Amino acid sequence: MIKDNLQKIKASISEDVALVAVSKTKPIADLQEAYDAGQRIFGENKIQEMAEKFDALPKDIEWHMIGHLQRNKVKYMAHFVDLIHGVDSFKTLKEIDKQAKKHNRVIHCLLQAKIAKEDSKFGLSFDAIEEIITSEELAALQNISIVGLMGMATFTDNQEQLEAEFKSLKLFFDHQKVKTLRSNCALKILSMGMSGDYPLAIKNGSNMIRVGSAIFGSRNYIA
Ligand SMILES: *Cc1c(COP(=O)(O)O)cnc(C)c1O
Repeated sequence: MIKDNLQKIKASISEDVALVAVSKTKPIADLQEAYDAGQRIFGENKIQEMAEKFDALPKDIEWHMIGHLQRNKVKYMAHFVDLIHGVDSFKTLKEIDKQAKKHNRVIHCLLQAKIAKEDSKFGLSFDAIEEIITSEELAALQNISIVGLMGMATFTDNQEQLEAEFKSLKLFFDHQKVKTLRSNCALKILSMGMSGDYPLAIKNGSNMIRVGSAIFGSRNYIA
């Protein structure tokens, strides 16, 4: 089933769009099944859960942290995480830089933009993102690299609203992309779209989608 779901999704998207299989709350066996079907990028939203899965699974997997970050836990993933999607403060960037340095690595990060109308979604305003990527202090962080932006749309069926939110982030992304000149900041990845809205997100410029339930089935609890 997981294999069929993966094949269906892959067949429907272009090769330029990266598919992150969101495996939060799912058992190792499910991830192994996706791996055996060729999937190599997995997304988790809890650092400890991701670290346990990293230990148990093949080492050519690319691990993405997609959840809200607790700064004091960054150290538990600094040795292996490939991309952190949910960075929403300069303080967090500094902590990631500090932990990456200990492992002599450069950790790739996306800044999370707040595009949803709901209060519950984390993220930075466009102004705050611009402030971070143009700040002098950013130049000092040699062990992180900002490679793009991430956004989560409002949880709604309203297609016009979803489209407006995706479009606003794509427009902002395109503006910033040409402006950023720092050696540790080059915007290439635009991570938007989940199980319910990824076709619309891709249509509006996403090149990385984070898909969970459409691959692994529904989760038993909200995570
Ligand atoms: C859970 C989660 C997803 C995947 O959600 P689905 O609706 O199951 O595809 C994507 N992005 C983030 C940030 C998530 O927390």
